[in-house]
Amino acid sequence: MKLEKLACNSCGAPLEVPESANYVTCNHCSTQLAVNRSESVTFTEAMDLLVEKTEEIGEQLSDLSLHNQLAALDRLWQLEREKLMVAGPNGSLRIPEEAASARGTATSVSFLVLWTLVATGITGVIAISAFPFGVVALAFPAFGINGIVSTLKSSAAEKDKARRYRQSEKRYLQKRAELTARLES
Ligand SMILES: [Zn+2]
Repeated sequence: MKLEKLACNSCGAPLEVPESANYVTCNHCSTQLAVNRSESVTFTEAMDLLVEKTEEIGEQLSDLSLHNQLAALDRLWQLEREKLMVAGPNGSLRIPEEAASARGTATSVSFLVLWTLVATGITGVIAISAFPFGVVALAFPAFGINGIVSTLKSSAAEKDKARRYRQSEKRYLQKRAELTARLES
């Protein structure tokens, strides 16, 4: 199997892609990429940008009926939408929300800060009085700090997804309104 050297168009990381592959997931930033091949050049394109290309696709499909264009647009949006949703507590997908993410983060971080402070108070004494083995007890406050960092990271990720979701949805609704208007005229 021959490998092609490409770059992720989202983060720039080098990728080795089998020559036959049409889709690839970047192992650096996890973006799903479409591999575009033309006679002179091969490059990757983030799938998130697909909806931006709806206009272009709409033109290519201009010989199809408006009904088919609408159906294609809806399918594209369904795919895009699923990629931008986030996993809820029971494994179901939900729409990312900036406000929900901010509230959840504040609650988790307050708890984790409290945990870290209390744990430092208790285990600090153990660490000093039972030195050097007592140092192991510092794993408890370290757990709290680790939790704070990962909570802030996932909150930032959801905020970013929420923004992208709103942008994509706006583009989709605009395009849909255009097609519907042409259908009714
Ligand atoms: Zn990447």
